[in-house]
This record gives sequence, structure tokens and C-alpha cells, in this order.
Amino acid sequence: MASRDRTIENLIERLNRLPGVGPKTAERLAFHLLRVEQQEALELAQAIEAVRKAVKNCSVCFQLDASDPCSVCSDDTREHNMLLVVEDPREVARFEDIGYRGVYHVLQGRLSQIEGVKPEDLTIEQLLKRVADGSFREVCLATNPDLEGEGTAMVLAEKLHKSGVSLTRLARGLPAGSSIAQVSSSILSDAIEGRRPLS
Ligand SMILES: [Zn+2]
Repeated sequence: MASRDRTIENLIERLNRLPGVGPKTAERLAFHLLRVEQQEALELAQAIEAVRKAVKNCSVCFQLDASDPCSVCSDDTREHNMLLVVEDPREVARFEDIGYRGVYHVLQGRLSQIEGVKPEDLTIEQLLKRVADGSFREVCLATNPDLEGEGTAMVLAEKLHKSGVSLTRLARGLPAGSSIAQVSSSILSDAIEGRRPLS
């Protein structure tokens, strides 16, 4: 091991930091990148560089976009009084696919005791500020239907309650423990159609 080139070790170590990539997979990916045509490997590096330079968090809703405010926030044809609160930008893409026409607030994660994610690690402060402006007729808490997603929705509901805004949650049709990023479009459409009020 000690004799292996330091630049290769560095690549393996960086790949190992990616979610879901263990040391074995990191090693396999690194050697794959050394085996393919140089051009192909360099194009991957360039794609990472290009996307990181071009794409930023929208300063209003915190989703990822090349422009700020993002293409959703700056679209006048959308319903700017309907707010959908999601955990990740990935979920924005899912709701866009099913034709949702309101706007979003991306929390950038969810509260988690196990992972040590606290309210100040998310964009909760910014959400409360947006809602306090009073321009929303409805705020739908579309966090995932699992333990941490439900817990996050409860904390948000508590914090948003005094704003007087109408709070809803996605319909129970979403299988418990599933993730919004993975359910079918028809289930997701039903879930947003049948959203229920939170008291
Ligand atoms: Zn935005």
C-alpha cells in the first residue's frame, strides 16, 4: 500500500468521501478512471468544474440553479402564494416533473439527531422570514414521509403556527418510510393533490 503513487491515493481518498462510496468502490472507480481514455476521465473532471462554477443556491428558495433568483422564483407565471417546503433540490426536480406551479423552499436537509443536524444547519430561519412576510396563502410541508422527515415537519409546523398561514402536509398516500425522490410520479401527484391541513 505504502508504495502506491500519492496522486492515486489522493484520488481514492476523495472518491471515498462521496456518499455511498466505500473504500473498495473508491479504489475500483480510481482504477477505472486510470484505465479509460484520458479524454473521458478529463471530461468528468471538467463536468464537475463546470457545474460547480455555474450552479449556485438561489438566495430566495435555496434550490440549485445557474441564475439567482432561480428560474422558478423569477417566473411571474407561477403561483407565488403557494409554498412547497422540501428537503433537497432533487425533490424540486420531482415536483417540477409532475407540473407543480407554486414556488419552493429548500431546507438543504432535515433535522436528524443521529447525524447531528440541528435547526441552524438548515434554512429554517430563512423560511420563517419568508412566511412572516405574509405573502403565502398556503405552506405545504413536503418533507419525506419517514421518521426524520415527519419530525422535521412537526418542528416546522410548530414554528410556523403563529404566523397564521394555512399549513398542509402531503397526503398519506405516500408509503411511510419512502422517499419523494423515488416514488412514482402518479403517487407523488396524488400526494400533492390530496394534501391535508395540519392543525
Ligand atoms: Zn429560487
